[in-house]
Amino acid sequence: MQTLTVATGSRVEMIDITQEVAEAIRRENVSEGLAVVFVPHTTAAVTINENADPDVVRDIIAETNKIVPFEDRYAHSEGNSAAHIKSCLVGPSLTLIVSGGRPVLGTWQAIYFCEFDGPRRRKVLVTAR
Ligand code: ZN
Repeated sequence: MQTLTVATGSRVEMIDITQEVAEAIRRENVSEGLAVVFVPHTTAAVTINENADPDVVRDIIAETNKIVPFEDRYAHSEGNSAAHIKSCLVGPSLTLIVSGGRPVLGTWQAIYFCEFDGPRRRKVLVTAR
């Protein structure tokens, strides 16, 4: 298993980790198979979306913040319920097809680490079989 470190710089942020994940899969020495990307955090997530136009990520963040507002009389006393909810909605893991030692992605697809309660130092776990 490979452990990546992601340093986030904002409260809510999507960081393109495609190259780091591809490098981690390469280190796993799997040519044809599956890779799992897993975020071991309750206020972060991982997803795949477009990286060609940065406005796409901007819109995802802006609309997600509307769907799950930062303040909404949440019961959780830590004050980061919005981050926990967004983490649930986006999800903690991805399964990727590995072919030729690389993750198979569409032309416009990138792997994004989603920070919902930053800035923090985060981990992303990657394994391939
Ligand atoms: Zn919390």
